Amino acid sequence: MSTECMFCRIVDGAIPATVVHETDTVLAFRDIAAQAPTHILVIPKVHYADAAAMAAADPALAGEVLAVAGEVAKLDSVNATGYRMVFNTGPDANQTVFHAHCHVLGGRGMTWPPG
Ligand code: AMP
Repeated sequence: MSTECMFCRIVDGAIPATVVHETDTVLAFRDIAAQAPTHILVIPKVHYADAAAMAAADPALAGEVLAVAGEVAKLDSVNATGYRMVFNTGPDANQTVFHAHCHVLGGRGMTWPPG
């Protein structure tokens, strides 16, 4: 747990968030600057700087993050129409929060490749 990390502070309740789903190990909340009608962030409660670090250290936890991403897509009813799971990793991907997180984006059509 890092008090410098915004998402750790959301996990410990110091910063409010609109939580949509929670397990013992994973938290899912709405992105504060939604880029789509559904834009949910799914994070491990323990701190890893990015998805690759999480998967290397704890593959089961990485699997739980993916499973919760699928669950919240169902909660927002975008599972039938489709959605995107995105793990921005590093500067070229414009990662801005260095706590592993999966963006779940849906509710509108999306282009490929992303900009
Ligand atoms: P990334 O650019 O992949 O690191 O994504 C970080 C995401 O966190 C961005 O989409 C932000 O809008 C989102 N974000 C930042 N602060 C908060 C917050 N306090 N609550 C919810 N989402 C946030």
